[in-house]
Amino acid sequence: MQKDTIAIHAGYDKKQGNGEMAVPISQTTAYAFRDSEHAANLFALKELGPIYSRLTNPTNDVLEQRFAQLEGGAAAITVSSGQSAIFYAIANVAEAGDTVLISDKLYGGAVTLLTYTMKRFGIKTKVFKSADASDLEEQIDDTTKAIFFESLSNPQIAIADVEKIVEIAKRNGVLTICDNTVASAALFNPIKWGVDVVVHSTSKYTNGQGTAIGGIIVERDGLAEFFKENSKRYYHFVQPDVSYHGLVYVDVPLPNFCLRIRLNLLRDIGATAAPMVSWMLLQTVETLSLRMDKHSANALEVAKFLESHPKVKAVNYPGLESNAYYEKAQKYFKDGKASGLISFDVSSFEEARKIIDSTKLFSVVVNIGDSKSLITHPASTTHSQMTQEELSAAGINPVTIRLSIGLEDTADLIEDLNQALEK
Ligand SMILES: *Cc1c(COP(=O)(O)O)cnc(C)c1O
Repeated sequence: MQKDTIAIHAGYDKKQGNGEMAVPISQTTAYAFRDSEHAANLFALKELGPIYSRLTNPTNDVLEQRFAQLEGGAAAITVSSGQSAIFYAIANVAEAGDTVLISDKLYGGAVTLLTYTMKRFGIKTKVFKSADASDLEEQIDDTTKAIFFESLSNPQIAIADVEKIVEIAKRNGVLTICDNTVASAALFNPIKWGVDVVVHSTSKYTNGQGTAIGGIIVERDGLAEFFKENSKRYYHFVQPDVSYHGLVYVDVPLPNFCLRIRLNLLRDIGATAAPMVSWMLLQTVETLSLRMDKHSANALEVAKFLESHPKVKAVNYPGLESNAYYEKAQKYFKDGKASGLISFDVSSFEEARKIIDSTKLFSVVVNIGDSKSLITHPASTTHSQMTQEELSAAGINPVTIRLSIGLEDTADLIEDLNQALEK
């Protein structure tokens, strides 16, 4: 099936149940077993089926199958937020004493999670340059359990050298985890470029209307072989799991990465997706590719307008030929479409604040990926918890304004920005 068909049909059999055309919401905590043998078989993974909604849920299951196919992966697991998706993906392979190599261009929440909270659990991070991966290989050692980066980063709007990162990771037998939130599954599929695990905050473009928080993790096919080949580094998958009656993950004929998250981390920590949220995402995923086309086309038009305005000092949008990431956008993203994030610099901090406060259509919101256009000042909001050094290392400047371009008519968006700039 092609992606536009997958987005509408995958993972759901209309002939089941009452033939509902819309996927039913399984709003239930638990499931009645046929008998005690059925119950025992489910716990022993001899038979697959729902047990308790912290672990699996039929509505979540449809979204997981659909998303796995959309990303070209083998399996997915949906969780309660993008942050919990990142946490689970990392905690699935790293523990106290281990190191994770993280991109220098990441979402602020990922930076605090990985740099400070994970450190309290003994997991260290080292930063590498994701635009060219020039300092990646030299930082890999026996404690390295994962390489984490964003395909199109928020808020720097930088594109990683995915091919080079994957090549170095494969040569060294290290797992790659790519946050694909901003590019979205419609414009870019990291697994097709050899990435092992993809995470998303579905709160952004996947949801598309700013109505719920969610996250999802997708794994590529064949990770069991990868874990066996690199069994010293990924011994958790090869040795018996004492917390799950001695289960050896690589011996189970199910995609290993999501399985271990489900049986271990979701069981114990429980940041589970709500079925209602999965149902909402099943609606919005149907139009994801249409929306990403429009977000990208709108953003390109607005970026061109900003580039032509005398009060704008610099515009950062990878769809512009003047942009340092233009070639990468053309290489990796569907038809070179570069999603809906733009940032631009004005002459001063005061000027930036004035423009933000003068817009009428744009809402001052720390979110992205909504159908409604949004405007933010990263230095004083989303990234205000970072130190001055961290800010400049991440390319965030007090004169930078970030836009998330929605699905409105661009004539109105440009008129609004123009009057705010002229004030
Ligand atoms: C928003 C975001 C997250 C965190 O997702 P939540 O759903 O808000 O927890 C992670 N990565 C990126 C790139 C994001 O934009």
